[in-house]
Amino acid sequence: MASRGESQTGRCTRLAAQHYSENHDVDLTDLDPVDSHAFSCRWVDAGDNRLCFHVNFRADAGPHGTQLFFAEVLGDGPPKSVQHCVMLGGQSTWSTNNCTFCSGICHPKASGTFDFGRK
Ligand SMILES: [Zn+2]
Repeated sequence: MASRGESQTGRCTRLAAQHYSENHDVDLTDLDPVDSHAFSCRWVDAGDNRLCFHVNFRADAGPHGTQLFFAEVLGDGPPKSVQHCVMLGGQSTWSTNNCTFCSGICHPKASGTFDFGRK
């Protein structure tokens, strides 16, 4: 797929799925970008000029079937570096209001799964 004209959510999804595949020995296919939100890291650290992206996407995770994922991606402008990418389970494993910056994005409740915006 060409990256030219790729949406923010699409680019985050592609990078995050690649990151997840490399770290979990499972190929994510049928990537379905759901939504993403960008905010400045400056809100968290005054000296940090990067942008932080929180993204949700769905993907076919082989034996796990189609699952919803959350990822945190940093970049100097466009999304570039995946910090965390986690598979979300049932509704008890995620929340849409435990992040200071996003509304409508499903964030994992487990600690250590994202660094920016955690309430
Ligand atoms: Zn968030």
